Amino acid sequence: MKASRFFISTLKEAPADAEVASHRLMMRAGMIKKLGTGIYTYMPMGLRVIRKVEAIVREEMNRAGAVELTMPVVQPAELWEESGRFQGYGPELLRIKDRHERSFVVQPTSEEVVTDIARQEIRSYKQLPRNLYQIQTKFRDERRPRFGLMRGREFIMKDAYSFDRDLESAKASYKIMADAYRRIFDRFGLRYRAVAADSGAIGGDVSQEFQVIAATGEDAIVYCPESDYAANMEKAEALAPAGARPVPTQALAKTPTPGKATCEEVAELLGVPLSTTVKSLVLATDKLGADGQVESSQVWLLLVRGDHDMNEIKVSKVPGLDQGFRFATNAEIDEHFGCQPGYLGPLGLKRPVKLVADREVAVMADWITGANEIDFHMTGVNWGRDLPEPELVADLRNVVAGDLSPDGKGVLAIERGIEIGHVFVLGTKYSKPMNATFLDEAGKPQFLEMGCYGIGITRLPAAAIEQNNDERGIIWPDAIAPFTVVLCPIGMDRSADVREAAEALHGELLAAGVDVLLDDRGERPGAMFADWELIGVPHRVVISDRGIKEGQLEYQHRRDTAATKVPVAEVAAFIK
Ligand code: ATP
Ligand code: MG
Ligand code: MG
Ligand code: MG
Repeated sequence: MKASRFFISTLKEAPADAEVASHRLMMRAGMIKKLGTGIYTYMPMGLRVIRKVEAIVREEMNRAGAVELTMPVVQPAELWEESGRFQGYGPELLRIKDRHERSFVVQPTSEEVVTDIARQEIRSYKQLPRNLYQIQTKFRDERRPRFGLMRGREFIMKDAYSFDRDLESAKASYKIMADAYRRIFDRFGLRYRAVAADSGAIGGDVSQEFQVIAATGEDAIVYCPESDYAANMEKAEALAPAGARPVPTQALAKTPTPGKATCEEVAELLGVPLSTTVKSLVLATDKLGADGQVESSQVWLLLVRGDHDMNEIKVSKVPGLDQGFRFATNAEIDEHFGCQPGYLGPLGLKRPVKLVADREVAVMADWITGANEIDFHMTGVNWGRDLPEPELVADLRNVVAGDLSPDGKGVLAIERGIEIGHVFVLGTKYSKPMNATFLDEAGKPQFLEMGCYGIGITRLPAAAIEQNNDERGIIWPDAIAPFTVVLCPIGMDRSADVREAAEALHGELLAAGVDVLLDDRGERPGAMFADWELIGVPHRVVISDRGIKEGQLEYQHRRDTAATKVPVAEVAAFIK
């Protein structure tokens, strides 16, 4: 490929709404172009990356025995009525109507369509197991589309669906997929963790998320460095035994266990409309036994408006909070803290909190954190101990760093992750309501046991950039770089030697199957190098008159601090 014929459009500045490195750099490198909220054009440079991601995923899916097909993006609502998801999916599902007023949905995934195929095509146990997949456009009307391709509304997903005769063999199909996912993510050269996720009604160890480790990730993952325990926060919380969180010292005895509630719940509790600003609140916990150790962890929650009459504090239960939580009377609060009425007076929030629809808040002492709200930071120090810095606070829930791990092998650590893949045993969740059966050996109809397996094809490059960038731009892993090698001739328009050497090397590398681009735009070296460092091509070869005279070219990896001289004749071998 020659740069003069390709489409290169780099920017000095990123748009103001680009909050994370991957979004900023993909915009600046001309990989994506925004068309609307959460809707992007994959520009030629970005599409090359996406195609490479797809190729690796496709290769490993095929290797694992999955079979590719393409299902429609626009799907009749009737199928979705059958599964119950037409109503059940909520506002993320884009529902549309055709000219005859018939309802359709734009696929956020395709369980219904694939189950419909299976119930028509799979008749006998002899046709099982089967795994069908597609790499296709999805649409989800996300509540908070952001970070460019990371959380788009339109995006590309690889979605696979397995069909088995019983749960045991469905679990075997699930394991084949989980193993394939490890091979896929290893090939991308990313640091990731497979974590247990909530497997809903099925129970057991049959749902895992693949999380790329990154400080900007929207998910919190809980793991034990001393063992192989790893789960997402929701799963870890669901497993945490109520009231059993060990609090080792007397000094920590008054550490409140965080609670979470939606703003709607808080508003209901306070008897105020949404959009009220809450100025103070308090939460307390931990009943001490005779030995001074925590006997049980109870959470008392009290939310107080700044202008509230202290004698008329309204105390009631917030629906949806974990079991074992209850709410205190004034007297109980006073007794617990050993303080006089009025004690609550000074507990104003450091930052008043506006109650906003669809926001979840965690409440503690005199500060508040908003889960899923990066810009919503705790300021303040707990009674017992200093809390970690804001990134962690956003996930401060029933499980905190330092808690004993469920396997008892060590204490938990928390880090942030980007969900790039999800594998899941579905059981008969779709086959039952949609009556998708096969005949077993005895000729008896049985429901198909299903699994589903997603990979965020367009999210993956964004996650890769979060892990691989510096002040100059992106540093692509070879496997998904838009070009593997860029040839940068200096003074190509003036020097026939340079032109000839560049063209010859370009031809030689192409013939050797190297994904190479020759930058023949005639840019000055500074601007040319800056472009390719921004775009993140991992290998660069500089061809100059001086070098040619010495019989040398200059090679530099995107991570190298200086160039290495390589004899002209050896460059092709050197890069491979
Ligand atoms: P998230 O928790 O980030 O909203 P999800 O759990 O809703 O993701 P799944 O239904 O498990 O997503 O879909 C499979 C994969 O599709 C995810 O693991 C993720 O990589 C990708 N994905 C989901 N939503 C988006 C999105 N809005 N933009 C880009 N990729 C997405
Ligand atoms: Mg989602
Ligand atoms: Mg998720
Ligand atoms: Mg998921």
